[in-house]
Amino acid sequence: MSRVAPRLLALAAAALLALQGLRAEETRAVTLTDAEADARVAATWSRRALLIDTSRHFIPVGEIVDEIIPRVAAHGLNTLHIHLTDGPGWRFESKAYPRLTAVGAWRVDKTDKPWNWSETEYWTPEHEAKGLKRYGGFYTAEDIRTIREAAEAAGLTVIPEMDIPGHSASMMMAYPETACPTNRDPRAWFKGRDVLCISSPETLRMIDTLIGELCELFPNSPIHIGCDEVPARTWDACPGCRDPQARVAFYNAVIGSVRRRGREVCAWNELGSTGADVSDVTLTCWLDDAVPRANDMACPYSHCYLDQEASQKRLPTWNPPRHVRGVQVNLWTEEMQTEAIRLDRIDRGLKSLRQALRAAVRADAANETK
Ligand SMILES: [Zn+2]
Repeated sequence: MSRVAPRLLALAAAALLALQGLRAEETRAVTLTDAEADARVAATWSRRALLIDTSRHFIPVGEIVDEIIPRVAAHGLNTLHIHLTDGPGWRFESKAYPRLTAVGAWRVDKTDKPWNWSETEYWTPEHEAKGLKRYGGFYTAEDIRTIREAAEAAGLTVIPEMDIPGHSASMMMAYPETACPTNRDPRAWFKGRDVLCISSPETLRMIDTLIGELCELFPNSPIHIGCDEVPARTWDACPGCRDPQARVAFYNAVIGSVRRRGREVCAWNELGSTGADVSDVTLTCWLDDAVPRANDMACPYSHCYLDQEASQKRLPTWNPPRHVRGVQVNLWTEEMQTEAIRLDRIDRGLKSLRQALRAAVRADAANETK
């Protein structure tokens, strides 16, 4: 070894130490404070939402206004997606179709047993005569105004959802003519054939009217039309709905009904594979293999389902896509019968979501300075 070599080595070692020092300083410099991280979260995902399902179990107005809305706002979210209709219950008042709530909002109370959709019984006078207990409820126009005003005061956008054409047993119970002529047995609706007759002009007229009513109830809101988990095989038996083109025409007509009123159209990601024109539709991507586009919302089942314990556990380590419009967590209420259970899941979920989003933007900031 020459005499200069040890000096060179020493110099190299000193340089390396200096570099490491610099690197350490850089790392310190990009550790965002919570406030900085939150600002970056807001810039990355312009829509940050919680979904509440008011159909499986009814969520009273007071709970939404006094408990849920403040929590959503406090955790840095800006959107409340309210799932207002589904097979087990219709939850918004319609002036044009009053049976939707008179019939569709009430069922026999089975809250003392584990959730069992296939054993749903809608409420009838016979149940009353037997002295059974009724379960359900709905939001009047006044209730909706109360919810809307509280949300707006907290800086939240409300996205009301009317879930069609699947998940529609409550509408079909109230107006059986909305079911295909080949699908008129309610017991089948609770066993996977919960879908509207979409080739019927009356069904489409009804949906268009209901979308108009929703737009009046929620004057500043995007409108979510559902379109998830549609049991399309049920349509194969119906002469009108069998036609694949009738299906595409239906979806395009419903999208058009919202668009025509100048509202943003939202739907679950399955609408993207129906052949309908979803170019300007915001897809809520819940299936784990769904690939959200720039305008879409990400809420994969694997991480964002607050009512599912495994999903809830994974949420703090969720690495959300950065290119999307927004992120969302969902509280479905099959097993969420009481306010205490719901608020516990929401508290944990919103905390975990914030943790995941902050970690994501901090990682991005660190990578940028490498
Ligand atoms: Zn049909």
